[in-house]
Amino acid sequence: MGKLVALVTGSSRGIGRETVIEFAKAGVNVVINYCTHEQEALELETYIKENYDVSVFLVQADISLENEVYAMVNQVIDNFGSIDILVNNASICKDSLLLDKTGKDFRRILDVNLVGTFLCSKYVGKVMLEQGRGRIINIASSNAIDTYYPESCDYDASKAGVISLTHNLALEFAPNISVNCVCPGWVMTDMNKDLSIEQIQMEERNILLRRFAKPSEIAKVVVFLSSSKASYINDTVIKVDGGHFNG
Ligand code: NAD
Repeated sequence: MGKLVALVTGSSRGIGRETVIEFAKAGVNVVINYCTHEQEALELETYIKENYDVSVFLVQADISLENEVYAMVNQVIDNFGSIDILVNNASICKDSLLLDKTGKDFRRILDVNLVGTFLCSKYVGKVMLEQGRGRIINIASSNAIDTYYPESCDYDASKAGVISLTHNLALEFAPNISVNCVCPGWVMTDMNKDLSIEQIQMEERNILLRRFAKPSEIAKVVVFLSSSKASYINDTVIKVDGGHFNG
């Protein structure tokens, strides 16, 4: 068998970008999916080509749109012939008071984070079932388990849905495809770029390791779950949040 192929959604920046780099380090061919940040995706493509001996393929798609997901999966298959690993990473978050959110705002978050994860899993899952092998790693959030903010109630609900979807995907795709979920806590990425120093310090007091994660600390767990070292890990939800003080 040749090199494995990993598709990481929303991978032009942040945790997705680091995940692409960690896969490349591990000798896995990578697919960078982006929605609007073409320049960052092109820069990552160049970086991978210059530094690692793997093939890289770039594909634009809004994961909330079924026709675009379908087209993305076909493009990847035309290029690589297989997809061994899917990382459902792409997501959006827009904080505002619960009472200020409209139904449209709420639905948009669900559309990207939950429906997008479903669509990518469905179309890549079909490919994996035909191949008779595959790994899916969903990125949810510790917000879906034990930290709640009304400002991100739509995001938290979408991520709780991703955890539920993980279990159903694992059940339907068994026994040749394993499906797991990673729940990061606070990570230093653009998603948190609007936090003030005071907010960051306040949040850090509730983290047992007293700091936000680096994106690579999440990416390494994703790559581990995709590797042969994790061959018996299935249908599991793993928190990677540095430990959380709930007192
Ligand atoms: P980020 O905002 O830097 O990255 C998200 C990526 O998703 C971006 O590249 C964005 O362009 C892409 N994206 C958004 N909508 C898309 C769409 N419709 N189609 C395709 N791509 C789309 O955020 P991040 O921190 O790197 O987040 C990565 C994952 O980790 C997300 O699932 C996020 O919910 C999760 N997470 C992050 C944190 C954190 O503190 N940063 C905490 C818990 C979970």
